[in-house]
Amino acid sequence: MLALGVLALLSVLCGFAGEPVRAVAPAYDLLITNARVVDGSGNPWFRADVAIKDGRIARVGRIPADSAAKTIDAKGQILAPGFIDVHTHVESIYSFPAAENFVRMGVTSLVTGNCGSSTTDVRQFLGRLKEKPLAVNLGTLLGHGSVRGKVMGLGDRTPTAEELKQMEAVVEQGMKDGAVGLSTGLIYVPGTYAKTDEIVALARVVGRYGGIYATHMRNEGDKVADAIRESISIGEQAGLPVEISHFKISNKKLWGQSPMTLGLVREARARGLTVTVDQYVYTASSTSLDSRLPSWLRAGGLEEGKKRLADKDTRERVIKDTKEALKRSGFKDYSFAVVASYGPDRSFNGKSIAEITKEVRKKSDVTSQIEQMLEMYEAGGASMIYHGMSEDDVKRIIQEPFTMIASDSGVRQVDESVPHPRGYGNNARVLGQYVRNLKLISLEDAIRKMTSLPAQTFGFRDRGMIREGFAADIVIFDENTIIDQATFDKPHQYPLGMSYVLVNGTVVLADNQMTEARPGVALRGAGSHNEP
Ligand SMILES: [Zn+2]
Repeated sequence: MLALGVLALLSVLCGFAGEPVRAVAPAYDLLITNARVVDGSGNPWFRADVAIKDGRIARVGRIPADSAAKTIDAKGQILAPGFIDVHTHVESIYSFPAAENFVRMGVTSLVTGNCGSSTTDVRQFLGRLKEKPLAVNLGTLLGHGSVRGKVMGLGDRTPTAEELKQMEAVVEQGMKDGAVGLSTGLIYVPGTYAKTDEIVALARVVGRYGGIYATHMRNEGDKVADAIRESISIGEQAGLPVEISHFKISNKKLWGQSPMTLGLVREARARGLTVTVDQYVYTASSTSLDSRLPSWLRAGGLEEGKKRLADKDTRERVIKDTKEALKRSGFKDYSFAVVASYGPDRSFNGKSIAEITKEVRKKSDVTSQIEQMLEMYEAGGASMIYHGMSEDDVKRIIQEPFTMIASDSGVRQVDESVPHPRGYGNNARVLGQYVRNLKLISLEDAIRKMTSLPAQTFGFRDRGMIREGFAADIVIFDENTIIDQATFDKPHQYPLGMSYVLVNGTVVLADNQMTEARPGVALRGAGSHNEP
């Protein structure tokens, strides 16, 4: 009996006795071999294979070649975590589910709802992912301006106690529904009318749910230092981390002052406050035309503004105030202000306000340029590019350990507009220009700024690193050729050098081709599963 039993056991183990060996399912879904892994921590690269199973990184190391259903040979290229872009404006993403401009620069996760503008129904916004799948992962902040607009309109006033309570309730619901924090846009209507106390009250709610305060500050020009202090004090009073968005100095007179502005952040950190910043690596910003006009003109929205401008004296006052703001900014006219997109006359796209004024009005004085801007504002406004920063400041900011890389872009489509190139090139530009050409930061540090730092800051606990158990958001690229191609003149161009992009273990870009896959998931904040 015993001998028979042993024989039977042996026959099972060795697969003889006429039984064919049962085909064993491969251990992994996908194996990436021959990679140089930059794992997102900032540590130096190492050679390894990476195995993926059920959308997660299952193993990193030396892995048998036949252990996966499919294999990608990375051919010695860099394998890194997919990039996390924490500063985007992709409220329209469900109309462009491929998010191609982001994927092609290696971005696999987006945080939208920045600069005070977002959905006010986070549950519905993130919930749509189920019926309208996306190529990338998506999280959102709750925009203070949107909350304020919903509760109290676009007016220039402080909230009543009751209105503040209502705003707190909207914020609380947003956090429970999965927002990652609160954003402000303190140059925009209606956020610009909020005093510090109002923001502290709302940020306090966000802090209770483990969220972050991300801010487009009140001023990035002559009063940038005051604005940084305000941002820090909001975090300090409300007890939550602060992210200063698109950190920059856009006042010509203050060019070169980034050691001072970065110093303010360092000082706050030295006091134990969590303050971080993000940056796109260009010397131009992009926002609306009307952000250059006095905030009192814009109160209540466009129709109210138009009514005010119909009064001759008020119009004169607008021109005077705008002229003074220009003077404070250190620019002598509006040749630094270029139209990205103007609906009523697309021939303006790509031209500066100075050029347009010359064409339309045959004038080159500043008053005529402001008149031209007001006419465009009255016709519905324009989206603009402002060439207002210095390269030295950009270089200094990117070297700071607490700076992460973020595009400030929307989902792009090739059309007649001439948008900021950052939406097509930002991450590739960091890797090609600032790492390879200028050698300002190491490859490993650049990757850290695009992966583990944003993941840590925004609370994405299982992303941003090449670690077993983490979500398999992965990029493979050639560090020797990666570069942005988009320019201010010709922005609709994808970068070179990105070989593969995987989102949750599924390939969304391979051999320079987008796949049809839509493996993105919602990235919900701590509040949705961790109520106070
Ligand atoms: Zn902004």
